[in-house]
Amino acid sequence: MPSILQVALDTPLHRLFDYRLPDELGPVQPGVLVEVPFGRTRQIGVALSLQTDSAIQTDKLRDVLCVLDDRPALSPDILRLAQFCADYYHYPLGAILLATLPPRLRNATPFVADTPWLVVSEAGRTAEPPARAKAQRALLDALRAAPQMRDALRAQKQGRHAAALIAAGWAEWTRTPPQTAETPQTAGSPLATPEQQAALDRLLPALTQFGVHLIHGVTGSGKTELYLRLIDAVLARGLQALVLIPEIALTPQLEQHFRNRFPGRRVMTLHSGLAEAARTENWLAAPDCDVLLGTRLSVFAPLPRLGLIVVDEEHDGSFKQQDGLRYSARDVAVARGKQANVPVVLGSATPSLESYAHALADRYQLIELQQRAISQAQLPTIELVDLKHIPVDNGLTRPALQALTETLARGEQSLVFLNRRGYAPALYCPSCAWVSPCPRCSARLVLHRTSHRLKCHHCGFETRIPHECPSCGNPDLKALGQGTQRLEETLAALLPAARIRRIDRDTMRPRAWAELGEAVHGGAVDILVGTQMLAKGHDFPNMTLALILDTDGALYSPDFRATERLFAQLMQVAGRAGRADKPGRVLIQTAFPDHPLFRYLQRHDYAGYARVLLAERKQLELPPYTRQVLLRAEAPTMEAALAFLQRAAALAPEYAGVSMFSTTPAPMARVANLERAQLLIQSTQRQALQAFVRDWRPQLDTIKPRVARWSLDVDPLVF
Ligand SMILES: [Zn+2]
Ligand SMILES: [Zn+2]
Repeated sequence: MPSILQVALDTPLHRLFDYRLPDELGPVQPGVLVEVPFGRTRQIGVALSLQTDSAIQTDKLRDVLCVLDDRPALSPDILRLAQFCADYYHYPLGAILLATLPPRLRNATPFVADTPWLVVSEAGRTAEPPARAKAQRALLDALRAAPQMRDALRAQKQGRHAAALIAAGWAEWTRTPPQTAETPQTAGSPLATPEQQAALDRLLPALTQFGVHLIHGVTGSGKTELYLRLIDAVLARGLQALVLIPEIALTPQLEQHFRNRFPGRRVMTLHSGLAEAARTENWLAAPDCDVLLGTRLSVFAPLPRLGLIVVDEEHDGSFKQQDGLRYSARDVAVARGKQANVPVVLGSATPSLESYAHALADRYQLIELQQRAISQAQLPTIELVDLKHIPVDNGLTRPALQALTETLARGEQSLVFLNRRGYAPALYCPSCAWVSPCPRCSARLVLHRTSHRLKCHHCGFETRIPHECPSCGNPDLKALGQGTQRLEETLAALLPAARIRRIDRDTMRPRAWAELGEAVHGGAVDILVGTQMLAKGHDFPNMTLALILDTDGALYSPDFRATERLFAQLMQVAGRAGRADKPGRVLIQTAFPDHPLFRYLQRHDYAGYARVLLAERKQLELPPYTRQVLLRAEAPTMEAALAFLQRAAALAPEYAGVSMFSTTPAPMARVANLERAQLLIQSTQRQALQAFVRDWRPQLDTIKPRVARWSLDVDPLVF
């Protein structure tokens, strides 16, 4: 009787593949990586189960080529989580399983990973480095408390000192670090506020089993402090904590904060900013870490002693992947918590309406922190500047400029928020009304003056700034509207004494946050100008003014989530102003001062506005009261994209309670020379919608002619 191995492969096909397992290779546990022939190529796959028969004749089966035992197998809990994702997102299991691995482990080339941990040697326990070698002494002390990660040492520029300790025989690299000290080691924590203590009294007893807890805490209320205490409790039981954070928030400061707080613990990071080798190294070391701090993809990290999952800034859009497996790391975190019977803590100053609705319905436990942790810190006052009555010059009103001038005179710092990078959103010809179109998209090319380019922010197309209008030859082209570069230029001209720094995707390199933080804390910056990147992460005690320009586009956007997002963004920017003992002030320029959003914003009333939005959503039958699935198609022509979707609609099974909208061009109809169209399906019943898609999806594979690309997006966030 031959052994037949079911293998999951990274293909678009929703099926597994059978291979004969030669006796000399077996036996093979589920989750082990194998190399198999596939068509005329070889592929890496994940072994799933051993069987004794196959739908395919045994003599037609091909042999497994080799078992990759130079890398660990995927654990049963990750296999189970991937299966959940395959079912829920209707995505091939093999593609998901392979995507959970760092790229380096997805090819068969044998490799030897760098040993990730530096540990103290026997001799190092009692060694006495010379007194003048302060850094070496400090590192040796740290090693006596806990092993240190190669990647972290690199980030802290400790490589030289590590090498010195190794040369002296006091430290060595190892793959599996010894367990940390028996006594939990936690640095002194600040005294909990009464509100934090009340939250802990509810949360700590709930740590032994699955449950979702939503911490809604105003900015500065000390959510991070709560996480740290919960993590501490979990670590004390010998378990691991997974902390998911938004893409952009992964600052070395946060990492350092965790390391300082848990000096005896193995704190590790995993994010896409790591070099490939470090990512592989850290992924391989994850099973031995105590705290894993990571972005979206770390929700699939191997953590055999998982005891707690925290999702910070749970409303953040970066938790949702926008291509391939379009998963929400927050939702997958909840699924993982449920499968592993581990508590999940979601935190935000402005929770997503999805999570908040769960909390209001008692499916999640709601924990509210309404006071700022530093008692003198007050919430900033929020004032509106009515653009219907007050003229704007180069994007700025007189009250705004005056506020900046006063703040500067007091020696305090300001931030100016404009969510559009570049110099101007477009280049414009006053004589024929030509407005720099992207040749590949239905979008305008953005003027970047510092690099002398016109750039498309959707497809990456770029070109030189033309000397004359390509349409009529007029040499006098104008910048249309304001971007952060132009704003920086305007401010520099109006406030020549101010030291101005611009923060947006054009200026930020991966580790530039640390340098920026130091510059602002050290008082080397008077005005920060930037996009939403500014809103996240940092605490600047001397920042007392936040100026918000031009948010009106979102107030009447066709995207039903636009006001939810804008409110969250404005709350976050406002939260940057006045965090220590100085009162903060927020100024918002708007032509719609009567919009209800501002009323709630001025009262810092997230809960009130959330209820308004939820009532609207309920009435309009929108999420979270309905579930949605979006079928997207891209083709060289709009006719072809729409025809595909119409064919798909015709093949749809009848399901009670599931409704299908008509096919439409996407709001951004053309990107990178492909026309995009979409078809929305929704239902108030998640189960019905899931069953519908399960029936429907296989039909989509049969549609002829095919389009360039199509995909299903379950719980879409962006349309
Ligand atoms: Zn022209
Ligand atoms: Zn483009």
